[in-house]
Amino acid sequence: MEMATRVTLISSPSLNGYKRSPISLPFFLPFHQRKRSSRTLTVVAMADVPLSTVLVTGAGGRTGQIAYKKLKERTDQFVARGLVRTPESKEKIGGADDVFVADIRDAESIIPAIQGIDALIILTSAVPKMKPGFDPSKGGRPEFYFEEGAYPEQVDWIGQKNQIDAAKAAGVKQIVLVGSMGGTDLNHPLNSLGNGNILVWKRKAEQYLADSGIPYTIIRAGGLQDKEGGLRELLVGKDDELLQTETRTISRADVAEACIQALQIEEAKFKALDLASKPEGVGTPTKDFKGLFSQVSACF
Ligand code: NAP
Repeated sequence: MEMATRVTLISSPSLNGYKRSPISLPFFLPFHQRKRSSRTLTVVAMADVPLSTVLVTGAGGRTGQIAYKKLKERTDQFVARGLVRTPESKEKIGGADDVFVADIRDAESIIPAIQGIDALIILTSAVPKMKPGFDPSKGGRPEFYFEEGAYPEQVDWIGQKNQIDAAKAAGVKQIVLVGSMGGTDLNHPLNSLGNGNILVWKRKAEQYLADSGIPYTIIRAGGLQDKEGGLRELLVGKDDELLQTETRTISRADVAEACIQALQIEEAKFKALDLASKPEGVGTPTKDFKGLFSQVSACF
């Protein structure tokens, strides 16, 4: 397991006396780890803390990219890995050695990426494509389709199930799965998109994860927006209640942050929650994720 050295500064007036009698400095630290200022004594305590190795799947996707980048930036806490479907996606996110190319529909292919990780963030999803020939100037709605073999049944159900099974076999300690709000309504328009029943298959995978015994957090996001994160008050809910309100969107950056926070907060475990945000400028931007996750009960 990789380790990071965490440095803790202890600055206490009660230790002031030491500055006049350095000989009495505590023996628990070697001399080079003791520092004195003119006013207080500062003890530098160094401890090796284990880093958590986290794999983001769908790391070439719009939310997955952000989550992978955030993990890479937090080197004092995480060793990041990414899983993408194609070499082109790998290049797109920097082409580092920690990015694995695999297809989640192929159970064998994902094993190397999952071996040795502590936690998994699942951000893979079937992606509907717009049928050619749509002309917005003529009005109406575009039609969508899924490529053969890439329907939600294959990606959002079999693909997610393969990841959960591989994670369980590898002893992964936690899984965060991003789903979508709307799953309580079989007639939701997203289900008719490309005849894919996408919300139905996503829910099936969520249930499979909840039944797996692995500590999990299921984040059912509202409509995703490509906006800066950290600027809005986040809202959690259950059973699509938020869909009845005006607040049913969220930025991809905020979803990515919530995924990472869920790895570090005990109150996020064994929970499925809807996630949206107030508009920017309304309310207070969320910083307290422990408080946020505590607002929902621990059940599917
Ligand atoms: P996205 O950009 O559509 O990314 C999905 C990723 O999954 C893509 O990078 C895709 O790779 C990957 N993928 C698909 N099939 C794969 C396979 N067989 N093997 C490996 N990887 C595969 O995602 P997003 O829009 O950021 O959404 C993130 C999550 O939030 C998804 O679960 C989505 O359904 C959910 N959500 C979306 C909305 C919304 O408004 N769009 C709302 C609520 C929830 P390729 O690029 O190579 O195909």
